Amino acid sequence: MYLNGTMRINSQGHLEIGNVDTVDLVKDFGTPLWVIDEQGFRQNCRDIKQAFSRLGESMVIYASKTLCTTAICKIVAQEGLGLDVVSGGELYTAIKAGFPVEKIYFHGNNKSREEIKMAVEAGIGRIVVDNFYELKLLDKICKELGKEQDVLLRITPGVEAHTHEYIKTGQIDSKFGFTLPDGQAMEGVKEAISLDNVRLVGLHCHIGSQIFAMQSFQHATSIMMDFIAEVKKTSGYELMELDMGGGFGIYYYHGDEPPDVEDWAEAVMLTVESKAKELGLTTPRVIVEPGRSIAGSAGVTLYMAGSVKEVKGIRKYLAVDGGMGDNPRPALYGSKYTAIVANRANEAAVETVSIAGKCCESGDMLIWDCDLPSVTAGDIIAVFATGAYNYTMSSNYNRLPRPAMVLVNNGSADLILKRESYEDLIRNDLIPGRLL
Ligand SMILES: *Cc1c(COP(=O)(O)O)cnc(C)c1O
Repeated sequence: MYLNGTMRINSQGHLEIGNVDTVDLVKDFGTPLWVIDEQGFRQNCRDIKQAFSRLGESMVIYASKTLCTTAICKIVAQEGLGLDVVSGGELYTAIKAGFPVEKIYFHGNNKSREEIKMAVEAGIGRIVVDNFYELKLLDKICKELGKEQDVLLRITPGVEAHTHEYIKTGQIDSKFGFTLPDGQAMEGVKEAISLDNVRLVGLHCHIGSQIFAMQSFQHATSIMMDFIAEVKKTSGYELMELDMGGGFGIYYYHGDEPPDVEDWAEAVMLTVESKAKELGLTTPRVIVEPGRSIAGSAGVTLYMAGSVKEVKGIRKYLAVDGGMGDNPRPALYGSKYTAIVANRANEAAVETVSIAGKCCESGDMLIWDCDLPSVTAGDIIAVFATGAYNYTMSSNYNRLPRPAMVLVNNGSADLILKRESYEDLIRNDLIPGRLL
């Protein structure tokens, strides 16, 4: 179902989020507009945290690449979650938001010297080391700074998650992590143990995104636990933390049937517990890194309907004032979304239209074949589940300014990201003197 969190249709037939009428949001903030349901976002944090903590020692860290602004970092911190960052930019945002650094985990397959230094200096909780190059570099930087750093090693377990090719990450042929089946992972562990300035506390793996099959998590967890046992056997070293990544799937489109978060928690936590018993290990602390399952459903994008083109007998195109600039996922992955006419939300669907963006690309289509009431220019189109991987993947293609983002809650709407202006677009442009 596309309506979730605090979303509902009010007595005027308008979509309402956080007790704020989306028609008013459009009047006040313009379009396109990213709207974040604060209660929905917070509830997703709580549900996941609760599902895992009920089953054992665990920490939920939010994958900030999904949706990252200073206000979002504040909310995540208030909910008591940790944070996963993948770049100096995300780390900077978190630090600026006052996020507790000891609860930040730093990922990435090519962290720069500057990024590593920034993280170690800040006193970051964990660096998730991706490869041998980084391991040596980190050790050297720590030595220079006179600091010891807790690390996890990212392991590629060789698990095929059933999801889109580009969002799979657990298979052997991947740019991420130390490969398990060919012995690279064990070599990495041995090297990490031997280094003076890094302290190996555990392992990480992330098998992909938008996963519905909980056996994929069970399988990966089981493989990781076997490896922890192997490490103990060969080196006597017991790893006390197991980070099983994110990837829990959500509803986008008719036919998507995500399991309950409890099922995800059970797949991971019960496997960890039973394997620990079977292998004679101390049960490690479990970390999970949900992104999409926290932010995705909490976001809605509002667009203004504009031009309509009818190709007789074939298709009706309805163009909106945004598109692949603010949501590149349909063009990038063929992702599907659901939309309604927000200002006439209880009218029955009478036609099938395809919702196009305004960029100079035929592939700039937000939704193919969407059933809507008859739409005209000036109607508000609401696209659901755009909280994850929309703003963070947005671009200025065609020099379209990025939309604004508002946080709605309990009848109030606060701007958390200003709409870009034309002036913003040329802010970093320079004209060399010889062209003047
Ligand atoms: C992308 C990513 C996540 C979050 O994935 P979701 O599918 O959004 O839950 C977590 N951990 C790592 C390492 C990632 O790359």
